Amino acid sequence: MPEKKPVIVQVAVPTPLRRKFDYLLSDSINPDFILPGQRVLIPFGRTKKIAIVLGLSDHSDIDPKKLRPIEKILDDQPILPADIMRLLDWVASYYHHPIGGVFQTALPVHYRKKAEALEAVQCLYRLTETGRQADWASLKRAVRQRSILECLKTSEQGLSREQLARELEGQWQSALKTLINKQWVEEYFKKSDTGLSSAVKNTGLTEINRVLGLSLNMEQQQAVEFLNAHSESYQATLLDGITGSGKTEVYLAFIARQLERSRQILVLVPEIGLTPQLIYRFEQRFHVTIATLHSGLNNTERMKIWQQAGNGKIRILIGTRSAVFTPMPELGAIIIDEEHDMSFKQQDGIRYSAKDVALMRASQADIPVILGSATPSMESLYLCRQKKMAQLKLRQRAGGARSPEVHLIDVWGQTLQHGLSRTLIELMQQHLEKNNQVLLFQNRRGYAPVLLCNKCGWISHCHRCDARLTYHYQRNMLRCHHCQSEQSLPLQCPQCGNSELSCLGVGTERVEKTVRTLFPDIEVVRIDRDTTSRKNALQDLLELVKDGQKQILIGTQMLAKGHHFPNVTLVAILDIDQGLYSVDFRAPERLAQLIVQVSGRAGRAEKKGQVVLQTSHPEDEMLNVLLQSGYSGFAQKVLQERKELQMPPYAWQALIRAESNRPEHYQSFLEYCLHNMSAIQQSSAQLNNIQFLGPVPAPMEKRAGKFRGQLLIQSNERKALHIILNELIYGVEQNKAAQRVRWSIDIDPQDLY
Ligand code: ADP
Ligand code: ZN
Ligand code: ZN
Repeated sequence: MPEKKPVIVQVAVPTPLRRKFDYLLSDSINPDFILPGQRVLIPFGRTKKIAIVLGLSDHSDIDPKKLRPIEKILDDQPILPADIMRLLDWVASYYHHPIGGVFQTALPVHYRKKAEALEAVQCLYRLTETGRQADWASLKRAVRQRSILECLKTSEQGLSREQLARELEGQWQSALKTLINKQWVEEYFKKSDTGLSSAVKNTGLTEINRVLGLSLNMEQQQAVEFLNAHSESYQATLLDGITGSGKTEVYLAFIARQLERSRQILVLVPEIGLTPQLIYRFEQRFHVTIATLHSGLNNTERMKIWQQAGNGKIRILIGTRSAVFTPMPELGAIIIDEEHDMSFKQQDGIRYSAKDVALMRASQADIPVILGSATPSMESLYLCRQKKMAQLKLRQRAGGARSPEVHLIDVWGQTLQHGLSRTLIELMQQHLEKNNQVLLFQNRRGYAPVLLCNKCGWISHCHRCDARLTYHYQRNMLRCHHCQSEQSLPLQCPQCGNSELSCLGVGTERVEKTVRTLFPDIEVVRIDRDTTSRKNALQDLLELVKDGQKQILIGTQMLAKGHHFPNVTLVAILDIDQGLYSVDFRAPERLAQLIVQVSGRAGRAEKKGQVVLQTSHPEDEMLNVLLQSGYSGFAQKVLQERKELQMPPYAWQALIRAESNRPEHYQSFLEYCLHNMSAIQQSSAQLNNIQFLGPVPAPMEKRAGKFRGQLLIQSNERKALHIILNELIYGVEQNKAAQRVRWSIDIDPQDLY
């Protein structure tokens, strides 16, 4: 009798290895019960791990006698639907990342850590028959018990603790216990409708709109018409509209139609863009379940959202980067707001771009995807030129507000008062006198980025990084912004003993202190990472600004996004020169985006805003193009330059980064990569359009005690780049040099430094 063929289960395991692992299915398990997207428990080395089933096969490259069996199936049903499995598979191959690690990034923590089956049950409280019949009047003095009973009376299936907490005030917990002891109230467990398999609920047509939208202007109407006309299949659209042109109103009008068609909507926003105002606007408009997914949630909350989006309860999901992986069986469209924002690209682990993943997801699901921005990225503008993306323009400010004027203040040769020019101080005075608000923007926190000894030239350096320590005035500390290490402030120069140490450069703290001295009667608020570390702190500070309690705002990049300050009439960027003369080829693009975005924070219909930029280089060509022809003229010029220099988006890049305890180790690893790839290149004519730049030390070679280097690979053909990386990685994983370094691949790097 021929031997029975073994059933091989391919799984993804969270390890740094870029491959699938094969396991056997023991005879006791029926192969029909094994489905892709299910979790299984497997023996792995000497430990056990949770793995995800990728598929079944009757073949393995490894001798089946050496394969080990799966220990246990953990879920009745796949926790990942087929479309998300497919998307993650693409992510693993496009970003050349281990498939196990991809699942680790995409899945809520509970799924990765808890081996027990996660059948979500909900603990509810309801009235018993005794409770209903009881004489409630006898509880005259037990006010809390009374109010609990009143609450529960209205709900057949009972209420959860969270729901009770929302209805009741003060300490009601012990009253609830008393009622349970008296058997008036019972606690019971209800299987919640959170599994992916449970039926999707359709929202009734009439329930969707809470209020009707504003009546749209001509441009908005045309945009919505275009979007509605292309809503049934894949279509990428750039909504290129100046700040305040009503992009959000366009999204809302489009979403209303999608909800009527019983579709779910995924909205991706930048990390700092997830503001209560935005959520409020959605909640005001629609009568459907809306959820937000962001870094402030705990693991249980995340899992709940994952499940409720997966069973169709949540109709609109608004989230940051990783929300792009959430299962949504009736997804009808993806919207990416502020698409130019850097936070859509993850900078560690899998360095994925949520924007590109969203484009792929939309294409696989055959649904539209909308990218909105006042300052579109060069990549998106390029796609529009290639006709791979449609471009819709909104050129008017909605509601009649006027765009602010932008001026340069030439600070060349001037003595600044801690970063402020005389001209700027006078302007501030004028605006403050009219009771308007002023926003000062300085993209550096702390008091001063350098502490210096005037006598011997000693500079405060971090021991663990190639970086200077920033002086923080309030904490009276020196702090490294790269490794977070702190030192107390030296009373004298550690090198020569001189007691006069001086501060060079200007951070937000220093600006704050100066402004308080210059304008002693004016309320000032500083908004940066140091003043907003507490939960809700940012919101509280912004409220003070909105109320008009604070007249001067000082802040970093955090203020450039999402917020609108109608009473701010003067915006100043204190130093734009860093952006003009950076080694990063994307620096001008970022600076222009910043200038335009910051300008967009100011002014409304009756109060025209003014924007000033302090610079020592008022003659700079790119800057003048921006001021004279606006962002689109500027973008044209940048694209022209990139084309001539064959830089992205006209070329594709990948960056290999390596980090080690000793610099020789990363060097030899990167040399090995280079030699290896050169050899691969010589063996195939198809690959001769690839260039290698490096290896070179990272611009900050030493960081947090480690030495870092990088090798840039560039080609005008995306496919070539991926072929060579695939071949390289196969060799690297077997190589010894790789064991002494931590290395990573960054596809489409946004930040080469
Ligand atoms: P964006 O998202 O482009 O910055 P918003 O959608 O937030 O613009 O709109 C900016 C402001 O203009 C908001 O206060 C909004 O309520 C208002 N607005 C938008 N569209 C209209 C319209 N058609 N009529 C009147 N006001 C509008
Ligand atoms: Zn000294
Ligand atoms: Zn450091």
